Amino acid sequence: MLVDLVITGATLAEHAVPMDIAVGNGLILDIAPAIASNAPRFAADGRLLAAGFVECHIHLDKADILDRCILAQGTLAEAVAETARLKAVFTEQDVYARASRIVEQAISHGTTVMRTFVEIDPRAGLRSFEAIKAVRRDYAGAIDIEICAFAQEGLTNEPETEGLLAMALADGADLVGGCSYTDPDPAGHIARIFDLAERFNVAADFHVDFDLDPAGSDLPAIIAETEKRGWQGRVACGHVTKLAAMGREAVAAVAVQLHRAGIGVVALPSTDLFLLGRDAEMLAPRGVAPLQQLASAGVLTAIASNNIINPFTPFGDASLLRQANLFANIAHLSRKADVDLAFAAIGANPARLLGRSHGIAVGASADLVLIDAVSPADAVRRAAPVLAGWKAGRQTFFRPAATLLRP
Ligand SMILES: [Zn+2]
Repeated sequence: MLVDLVITGATLAEHAVPMDIAVGNGLILDIAPAIASNAPRFAADGRLLAAGFVECHIHLDKADILDRCILAQGTLAEAVAETARLKAVFTEQDVYARASRIVEQAISHGTTVMRTFVEIDPRAGLRSFEAIKAVRRDYAGAIDIEICAFAQEGLTNEPETEGLLAMALADGADLVGGCSYTDPDPAGHIARIFDLAERFNVAADFHVDFDLDPAGSDLPAIIAETEKRGWQGRVACGHVTKLAAMGREAVAAVAVQLHRAGIGVVALPSTDLFLLGRDAEMLAPRGVAPLQQLASAGVLTAIASNNIINPFTPFGDASLLRQANLFANIAHLSRKADVDLAFAAIGANPARLLGRSHGIAVGASADLVLIDAVSPADAVRRAAPVLAGWKAGRQTFFRPAATLLRP
């Protein structure tokens, strides 16, 4: 097959010596210590080449709205209320412009696959959804975007939302998302989300257990519905911060059930740290799901950005390596194997969660990122810059490494 590009001298996690990678027709054609070809060459200079990062939980529709918000308490309730007020007047043009900015940041930090939630309810209507569909189309050459039709503010209390979600699922949404903690009837909410998942034969993604009270978890209801409907491997749960407030034995018991039900857990360190533990006078808790313990029990775990520059998280730049680094810091990761897990939690693991193949292998799609690091753990430890990226073999960005100017 015709070679379009050879990336030379790249460090790959599974190889002891630098390798050349031949790319053609969007695929990886060969991996070898030295590949002879007349095709254009890109010198990796011994840096780490990895499969593109996978952002499995982000809210493009309400990103980048901090400049129009009034934040007094910085609480979750205030964030939900402020966003509800603002989204009623979101226009398609406004959502498109903000979402595009975030997608461009994500691409330039090495993300090649993204699952975004889009709020659909009587306030937002389908305007944000239409805008995100246009973003998905316009950036398809650089990133695959999955759209999750999402009920942020309840379902049993706002019956109109269910019909709107169904309209979106019939018109291009890839999966359905629920938020049990904002619904006065969490179990009813969860059942209705699964009804939609079954009706449209799509995955389900929940925002769940977003506080630090170990009691009152909605996970048992989600686990039961997942198993009842045979949805193993098609359900993700974001936040699940109650697990951070439980002892190791209690977490171990939940982990066994999550593993059996094939439910993935997504930690959102920026948001979880920002919104939780705010009432602590001292020794503020970290409040992020204990991914290492879950992973050691076989649960699929991931780290994602969630919100960016809005009342839920007034920080962020869509860099997944920075999120992995943040998680590694606050979760006390020290062993190399645990730091490697943080790297897998922004690539291989979320890819599996989304049911996608991932990795650098002959025959795989050439979705690649070049990182200014020598190993995955090194990339996480230093939140190393991502210098270049390719989607299906086409280069999508380039960031020159810094050059010191000596006297
Ligand atoms: Zn979220």
